[in-house]
Amino acid sequence: MNVFVYSTKSYDRTFLEQENAGFGHALTFLEARLNSKTAQLVDGHEAVCAFVNDELDAATFEVLAARGVRLVALRCAGFNNVDLDAAARLKITIARVPAYSPHAVAEHTIALLLALNRKVHRAYNRVRDGNFSLDGLLGFDINGLTAGVIGTGKIGRIVARILMGFGCHVLVHDPYPDAEFAETGPRYVPRDELLASSDIITLHCPLTPATHHMIDAEALTRMKRGATLINTSRGALVDAKAVVEALKSGSLGFLGLDVYEEEADLFFEDLSGKVIQDDVFARLTTFPNVIITGHQAFFTRNALENIARTTCENVREFEETGACTNEVTTALRSR
Ligand code: NAD
Repeated sequence: MNVFVYSTKSYDRTFLEQENAGFGHALTFLEARLNSKTAQLVDGHEAVCAFVNDELDAATFEVLAARGVRLVALRCAGFNNVDLDAAARLKITIARVPAYSPHAVAEHTIALLLALNRKVHRAYNRVRDGNFSLDGLLGFDINGLTAGVIGTGKIGRIVARILMGFGCHVLVHDPYPDAEFAETGPRYVPRDELLASSDIITLHCPLTPATHHMIDAEALTRMKRGATLINTSRGALVDAKAVVEALKSGSLGFLGLDVYEEEADLFFEDLSGKVIQDDVFARLTTFPNVIITGHQAFFTRNALENIARTTCENVREFEETGACTNEVTTALRSR
């Protein structure tokens, strides 16, 4: 099948070409993000391949449908950027990679937690500068703390297991509790109890209307003073402005982010020579107790191999059967 690949980085090309050797799709790579304007570049392709910050809105789908596209193969799990109603109306199938390495994201979550707690980012710079003072580097033991995991899907369950391995009391919250998982140690509690009782809170649920800004000013006031918040899921789960205020007042102790609500204008690009226009993001980068990574939690060799292979498989299955096991349907949206 002819596939037009948007938002291509060198690593996407490397892994897609490597895996595609066994499939034989005709891949055309483009660096530009997909939106209603760049969609017009599709020419003679029945499928496009898109990523997390591509604009899969009704306007884009109208152009894609008019140009004969029948499949959008997402090379990610989340689909909050996709207007599923518009896709269904225009008979465009959306496929995704439901799981490529939940371990990659879970391990990055823990990397943020440990770096924040033991101030590894500050120690690294100090030692390179010949400064071996320990003042300001005081951490705390994670063992014995209460950790709250919101969302006990593939990633949240692994994070919870790792935290139990550290000796944390793990509280979890999910509208669809998993009784079998609960038997392994974590305790399902209502969201407000988790917020009030946890020293560490980590978010692993999808972005939906129900979860948008789930950590807002009100939720922050419910949290323990000095708590640590980690978000490796989707930026808009957290109201960044409210978080800045909580950090300024000291009510929030530490913040680790791999995602940011307005990341589409920032992440995946080298902007080191440019002036950042987003004042909230710029303010977040000034706090010593905040670490931000640019949506790299998924970024392991293992994950990229799996993403590329499943994407090629999704395209092949659609080509052969006109359907796809990994299709994103509106039913998935409510989960
Ligand atoms: P999953 O679908 O396996 O699990 C999500 C869980 O969240 C489900 O158990 C669901 O019931 C639960 N949930 C839904 N609404 C909720 C709510 N209101 N409160 C609490 N829980 C709720 O997904 P996953 O593979 O574990 O991924 C979790 C999220 O991680 C994804 O949605 C995606 O946004 C994000 N992600 C980020 C990266 C990255 O690189 N940073 C990579 C992959 C996934």
